[in-house]
Order: sequence, then C-alpha cells, then structure tokens
Amino acid sequence: QRVEVPVAEHGINPRLLDDRAVKVVTTLQDAGYEAYIVGGAVRDLLVGRRPKDFDVATNATPEQVKALFRRAFIIGRRFQIVHVIHGRGRDHEVIEVSTFRAYLDPAAAEPVQGNEKTAKSAIAHKQHAVDASGRVLRDNVWGPQIEDAARRDFTVNAMYYDPRTQTVIDYHQGLKDAKGQVLRMIGDPETRYREDPVRILRVVRFAAKLGFTIDARTQQPIRAMSSLLANVPASRLFDEMVKLLQTGHAVASVAQLKVHGLDRGVFPVLDAVLAQAPEGSDRWKFILLALQDTDRRVQEGKAVAPSFLLACLLWHDVLQGWEQRRAQGEPATPALSQAIDAVFDARIGDISGRGKLAADMRDIWMMQPRFERRGGRSPYTLVEQPRFRAGYDFLRLRADAESGLADLAEWWEDFSLGDEGEREALVEAVR
Ligand code: ATP
Ligand code: MG
Repeated sequence: QRVEVPVAEHGINPRLLDDRAVKVVTTLQDAGYEAYIVGGAVRDLLVGRRPKDFDVATNATPEQVKALFRRAFIIGRRFQIVHVIHGRGRDHEVIEVSTFRAYLDPAAAEPVQGNEKTAKSAIAHKQHAVDASGRVLRDNVWGPQIEDAARRDFTVNAMYYDPRTQTVIDYHQGLKDAKGQVLRMIGDPETRYREDPVRILRVVRFAAKLGFTIDARTQQPIRAMSSLLANVPASRLFDEMVKLLQTGHAVASVAQLKVHGLDRGVFPVLDAVLAQAPEGSDRWKFILLALQDTDRRVQEGKAVAPSFLLACLLWHDVLQGWEQRRAQGEPATPALSQAIDAVFDARIGDISGRGKLAADMRDIWMMQPRFERRGGRSPYTLVEQPRFRAGYDFLRLRADAESGLADLAEWWEDFSLGDEGEREALVEAVR
C-alpha cells in the first residue's frame, strides 16, 4: 500500500541533492508527467549519504523523455532507459531516467531461451520472457508506479522522492528498514533470486557498503542459489564484480562474500583471490594490500582503474605460470607473455572491453622485470613509457607486501622524480 512520508518523518536533507537530477525531475513534472528520484539515491539520502549517482523514474515513455531534453539517448535492450547528459568532457554527468515498469508474474512466464520472436510474444501476453532457469530476459513493459516498486529488489531500494514536495513514496516499508538498517527482499526471496541471480551479489554488496544486516529470510536461500550465477552472462558478472571491488568497500565486500559462501565458483577472478589465497600467505598479503589501497583511493576521491586492481589480484597466478614456463626452458620474456595469456583466458574470459583491459594489465605486468634492469639506457626508456606510473605503483605495492623490494622501489621513485644529474648519479650508484 502506498504511503506518503513527509519530510518531518524521513528527514532527508535537500542539500545532499544534485541540482541536475532535480532539474530533470522538475522538467518532467512541468511537462505533465510524474517523476521522482528513485532507488539507491533515496536509500543513500535516508541514511545521510550523498548519492554517487541519481536515478529518476517517471511515467513518461523513453521517447517522451528524450523529446524533453537536448542531450538524451535511449540505451539498452533488455532494459531500456534514457541517459540525460549534462556538461561536457571529464565532469559531464549522466542522469538515468527509467519508465515505470510492470511487475510481471514470473510464475506465469514461459521459458523462451532467448529467442527474440518468442520474447516479444511473451511480452504481448504480459509475461516475462525468461530462460530455462527462470532468469528474466526482457523487462520493457510499462506499468503503474505500484508495480514499478514491486519489481525492484530490496525494500530500501524501492522508494521514490519528490524534491518539490519533499515527500517520499514508500510501498514496502522501506523507510522502516532504512532506519533499522536491514536489507529485505521484496516478495519471495527465492523467486526473486531465481528471476535475477545477480541480486545475490547485490545484497552482499549493499551489506558491505552500508553496513546493513541482511534479513533472515532474504539471507537464507543465498548459499543454495549461488549456483544460478553460472547462467548470468560473463559481462554482467564482471560489471558486478567491478562494483564490488571498486566502489570503496572492497575489503568489506570480500569478507561478506566469504561469510555467505560465495568465495568460490562465482567469479574466476575471485577464486584466485579467495580460494587460492589462504590468509597469511604472501598471495593474500598482496591482495589485501591492493584491496585496502583501492578503498583508500576511492575514499580520497582518486580514480581507480579496474586494470590495476585486477593486475594485483592475478599477479601471483601470473608469477606461477611464468616460473613454470621458465623451468621448462622458455626464455624469460616470452615465458611471461605466455603466462599472461593463459591467466587472462582462465580468469577473465570473454567480456566486453576485454582488449583494452588486457592491454593495460599486460603493460603493468610486463614492466615488472624491467624494473630490475637499472643499467645503461633502459631506465630512461622505461620511465618514458605512457603506463610507467601504473607499473611503478604496482611495484611499490609489491614492495609493501614482500621483503627485499623496498630499495628498488625507492630507487625508481628517486629516478622518476630526479633531474638529469640525479638520474646519472642513480644509474652510476648501481653499476
Ligand atoms: P548503487 O548505485 O549505490 O550501487 P543502486 O541501488 O542505485 O546502488 P543501481 O544498480 O544503480 O543500484 O540500480 C538502481 C535501482 O534499480 C535500485 O535501487 C533498484 O531499485 C533497481 N534495481 C537495480 N538492479 C536491480 C535488480 N537486479 N533487480 C531489481 N531491481 C534492481
Ligand atoms: Mg545507482
């Protein structure tokens, strides 16, 4: 049932709002549509955090939304939304606008196994198109707000905020759960995990990010249902993993994954991190440092690149493969290169954006043995590499994790900062 909560009760501080998100909402309202800030942003506002991004929900269709803004693009297929763009270049901002969607009864759905034509006919019959395991494939049937709320995942993610009237619309007692710091699935948890197994990872991520507890019924099916993650496309899993590891709560997220028995078989990358890195081992020490370093950078508002963290997580895999190949008589450089190829195939697989990611990770790894060579011209060449900084940061993290590299890391720091004379002296000193 729909509850309108006034500001006296929810206490959202309007200063935490983003002007441009508010502008998108009011533009839609002025054109006669319903529009609200929705989802995670409302949740974050309720706990007094400034949301990192703002989503808007409306009863206008994507075409109607697009018509109201100068720079707006309809994107997505499985889940059509409109991106409204503000600003240019580095500090441009994207507000995601989604149209209220119907909640279709998953029990009534027919398996269509991804076939386009049957998916369309399922939609015409107000059913979800699902695959053989019950996973929803298409979700573009518009509906009333009450249904839009019901198809969201957790009660705290299903509230709507109208910045003009400062009211929160709450259908699922999300406000109570936000105050009680509880993550509770809307509807029957098992059914909802089956519809979209990624929700298993989302609940773990939110628990880590917000420090909320997971309600008992929401938590209970997680272990048993985690095998369903095998049906989720690799790219979507990869995106979710990046969110787990790169939004400032990596250490907490990894701990949560362990608690819920998700530390193996979910992401091949995390198998390397968790299952094969017993606490106290060198591998674990390096990984923990990398996760902590990432969290610290995010807290400080610095950029983090997935390639850097992934290079850290998989470094000991690469080392192992490299040593094996050298032991078989392969020369060092090709052995390293082959080890990298093998690790990439085994742990990352076929994801979109693979080429660029692979190239960046390879650069970081291939640079490591080159840091050992400090004679002649080679340090001068290395320091000019476009990716030198990332390679050097990686070396420094290695030096923090294992003994014997501290002097080398310091030498490179001095060399990279030094002028011509200092560089000559540094090279001379290690002759
Ligand atoms: P954050 O952006 O802080 O990671 P969020 O809750 O905003 O968290 P988004 O992925 O941005 O997460 O999604 C926005 C909203 O869309 C969610 O709050 C939720 O209401 C809904 N949503 C997103 N993914 C799902 C899902 N897999 N199942 C159901 N609802 C979802
Ligand atoms: Mg969000």
